[in-house]
Amino acid sequence: MKVELKNTTKKLCVIGDPVLHSKSPVLQNAMISALGLDYIYLCQPIPRGEAGRWLSCAAYAGYAGFNATMPHKEELVPLMDWLDPLAEKCGAVNTICIKEGKYYGYNTDGEGFLRALADLGVEARGKQVLLLGSGGAAKAVSAALAEAGARVTIANRTVQKAEELCGMAPEQLSAAGFEIETLCKLAKGSEILVNCTSLGMEGTGRDFADLSFVDALPPGAAVCDAIYAPEETALLYRARQRGLPVMNGMGMLLYQAILALERFTGETINVEQARAAALAALKGEQ
Ligand code: NAP
Repeated sequence: MKVELKNTTKKLCVIGDPVLHSKSPVLQNAMISALGLDYIYLCQPIPRGEAGRWLSCAAYAGYAGFNATMPHKEELVPLMDWLDPLAEKCGAVNTICIKEGKYYGYNTDGEGFLRALADLGVEARGKQVLLLGSGGAAKAVSAALAEAGARVTIANRTVQKAEELCGMAPEQLSAAGFEIETLCKLAKGSEILVNCTSLGMEGTGRDFADLSFVDALPPGAAVCDAIYAPEETALLYRARQRGLPVMNGMGMLLYQAILALERFTGETINVEQARAAALAALKGEQ
């Protein structure tokens, strides 16, 4: 991939700690190049606790914006001049635009998930969702699902963390434990199941010990995994064997990046073109 640098080229980056593993530079530069945008996207390690200092550096160095990953998503929130409603609701930003010295914070993770869900032909409004996990991904996805009009039960190993997430939208979110009996009972009444735990993720060596809750889902229930590596987790395999509609985390990853690029550039991105370029770049990396 070739990115042409000019004196007018605007800078973007991803910050995190650690961040060198991030797929964002590959995805964003592929989309930037394919769409002919005058931007360059870099990778910037920023240590925990230093996001505030980075903000003023970024503005001074002329960055148009940046993405934030662990552990900066929450720390940046009080430093923003403006927050989009989802970022405000979940108390985390992943996309920051810098305009005339002011900081505009967005969270595109949850909307990215909803867009991918829509591609699967599933609408969230009015649905009963069983969401597993209470970390960063769970927070963004459950806030977006609640905003879209779904009712969500958040089941997590540490129930207290699930209870804390419910504070984002108490009327639509409820908390539960992670015991297999609880998951089976909840699955029976759920139209969508979303895994936002790291169980099944490549390189962790950890997976669900018991997937019988997948068999308890009603016919036609959609099964989603935030994980994109591997392409098909054991959870998705089990659901596919049952003939249920499934989706992995790749759609969410691509859409959150496309939405971020739209915020940075202020342009409507051609989704098909951006998606094709990003997928080809990811494939080339493997
Ligand atoms: P995180 O903040 O570290 O949260 C991890 C979650 O997994 C917590 O709820 C944790 O439960 C649970 N968990 C971990 N080990 C467990 C075990 N042995 N048994 C039961 N629960 C366990 O991680 P995250 O950032 O939310 O990411 C979660 C997953 O989503 C990762 O696989 C990540 O790759 C994926 N993700 C995908 C996208 C995308 O764009 N597709 C974006 C973000 C994340 P406790 O609270 O009890 O510790």
